[in-house]
Amino acid sequence: MAATVIDGKAIAAELRAELARELEELKSQGARPGIATLLVGEDFGAGMYRGAVEKFCAEMGLGYRSETLPADAAERSVVEAVESLNRDPAVSGILPLRPFPPQVSDSVVINSISVDKDVDCFHPFNMGRLALGEPTFPPATPAACMEVLARYLRSEGRDPAEALEGAEVCVVGHSNTVGKPLALLLLNANATTTVAHVYTSNKGNLAKHTLAADYLVVAAGVPHLVGADLVKEGAVVLDVGINRVVLCPACGALNRGKKSPCRVCGAGLADAEAKTVGDADYEAVAQKAKAITPVPGGVGAVTNMMLARNTLRAARLELERR
Ligand code: NAD
Repeated sequence: MAATVIDGKAIAAELRAELARELEELKSQGARPGIATLLVGEDFGAGMYRGAVEKFCAEMGLGYRSETLPADAAERSVVEAVESLNRDPAVSGILPLRPFPPQVSDSVVINSISVDKDVDCFHPFNMGRLALGEPTFPPATPAACMEVLARYLRSEGRDPAEALEGAEVCVVGHSNTVGKPLALLLLNANATTTVAHVYTSNKGNLAKHTLAADYLVVAAGVPHLVGADLVKEGAVVLDVGINRVVLCPACGALNRGKKSPCRVCGAGLADAEAKTVGDADYEAVAQKAKAITPVPGGVGAVTNMMLARNTLRAARLELERR
């Protein structure tokens, strides 16, 4: 039986409407919710993300401030820029866009962000609160996974809190930004949470863990890492991976780029089609899973909404402190 497709775009649209109402209410009380980005240097990916945040803020009706420093900026100047953002009442949330140049330490900059404006949960204080199960700003991508799961369960007539309690959940990936904080959120929901990662795979143990999972979340950044053979019949699969690949026109194999010949059949890839795929082999896994998020249009579509939600929460807290 084919899996239910969990539509991240539809969930994002629901959230957008809910957040728009909340934003209007906050503005009517005198709040000015907004996001600031902090970019140091000219990293292409960080610059792209900066543009995306600016566009998103405009679409959502959130304020936006851009702080951009040159690649040779001293660490002290970067910290001073953060301190200026900390003081700005129109900045509810601060997003440091990494990588920073080598003379600027990630942790020095992150530790200088006000914990009340740390809307993507980079600061160790907020990560600590997350670990303790205390109220905080849950990081956007893990929060999107929890939101997608909760809305899917409710659409099935189930109470998410009850469904997750004691449930067998496997998270593949243990990065500080996705896998690890997601595992904490799942533990806080009392799920029986297993975290598998590259070293699990290297020991040949990945299937042992993924096949036990009724809920499988894959966040590894490896195209089609998870095929049907790694999925329990009837599992719910959330695919966080976003991988740009090229399809070999001769054999259909996925390749990372066009420059080298196909890794499977050796055919040239100059004219190969590029596409975005997840960490799960969607077509195959959808035949075995009960439900699955597509890529694109799954978890990724919801991530920005979690950032907006945290920003509104920061603005509300600021309003309450006045
Ligand atoms: P990362 O590179 O920091 O971490 C990858 C994790 O996957 C590591 O814990 C590693 O141990 C594990 N891993 C790698 N190869 C593995 C293998 N063969 N078997 C098992 N585990 C393996 O990546 P990240 O920042 O956590 O991102 C993971 C994926 O999620 C990427 O594709 C990224 O593009 C995507 N992502 C999506 C969103 C979103 O909004 N949907 C946000 C952030 C990241």
